[in-house]
Amino acid sequence: MYNVLDFTLEELQSWMKENGESAFRAKQVFSWIYKNIWNFDDMKNIPVSLKEKLKENFIIDIPKIVEVYESSVDDTKKILLSMKDNNLIECVLMKYKHGNSICISTQVGCRMGCKFCASTIGGRIRDLGAGEILAEIIVAQKYLGERISNVVLMGSGEPLDNFDNVVKFLKLVNAEYGLNIGQRHITLSTCGIVPKIIELADLDLSITLAISLHAFSDEKRKVIMPIANKYTIAEILDACRYYMNKTGRRITYEYSLVSGVNDSKEDAKSLSKLLKDMNGHVNLIPVNEIKENTLKRPSKKTIEDFEEILKAHGIEVTVRREMGTDINAACGQLRRSYLETQK
Ligand code: SAH
Repeated sequence: MYNVLDFTLEELQSWMKENGESAFRAKQVFSWIYKNIWNFDDMKNIPVSLKEKLKENFIIDIPKIVEVYESSVDDTKKILLSMKDNNLIECVLMKYKHGNSICISTQVGCRMGCKFCASTIGGRIRDLGAGEILAEIIVAQKYLGERISNVVLMGSGEPLDNFDNVVKFLKLVNAEYGLNIGQRHITLSTCGIVPKIIELADLDLSITLAISLHAFSDEKRKVIMPIANKYTIAEILDACRYYMNKTGRRITYEYSLVSGVNDSKEDAKSLSKLLKDMNGHVNLIPVNEIKENTLKRPSKKTIEDFEEILKAHGIEVTVRREMGTDINAACGQLRRSYLETQK
């Protein structure tokens, strides 16, 4: 069985032709799916014989909403989804002035092992398929009843550790007949898998790349991110320069502030020096505390000081606005706490 959501329009058109059907049927099928009709029998203009063929070969793999947690402090909604093999994933809807944004997962779990992150605690269970990643948005958009216009690949999983499916997803999400979300409205966040950053750059996409940096030196980075044993910061920044040259896109550097680990004034100064010629944007994320570790977020004053030092060095910086703190909105926390209550 294929998941029809893994197919581009051209691929489904080819399938139609190979199976003795007219190519235009492909567009009809997709237009039903994007009208939230997720069952071939309900697709009114599709002949019965084709419906039968479709059912023999395809599923429309839309996950089930298990629970939705709505924040009472802002409009953030966290959605727990159950996949067809009963694995759970999560995505987060955020409302901004410029539109609705969704943070989606790319794997069930993660194998990167970052110390502060809840998604990685049980390791990686499996990759998500391109259509499964797409379906997170389809199902969330139906739930919301409003268009989703921005996507960040910052949920559970390391997108570049699931490269082919993620690249296919980037193609699918663009499709005019479908969600029609432009590449400029998509951000992919990675812990820094250097060869894959280069490969991504070579695809000449115009998505925004975000790098989870979190430290100014390799030594410090190794304490919180195992991937730092494999790739150095120098290699990552080289790959970033390559990405910028290729795509003309500026890079975002994410920096999760952890009290006593990477939040000192010295850290801020060294980070400024490191990034001074990168023409990037730094996003400071006060760490979301999780009960599985003892990492603490810095005080408000420490965060402000850190931000000021970067600014004084001419680095463009924002502190990530906290959203949905009352609903476990940090990466992977929801799935973990849900799994625990089921034990
Ligand atoms: N694997 C990718 C994308 C998923 S994580 C990556 O590493 O970039 C998305 C972002 O959230 C990363 O910057 C990650 O380091 C950060 N993050 C994860 N858990 C966090 C937590 N508990 N507090 C603050 N930031 C966290």
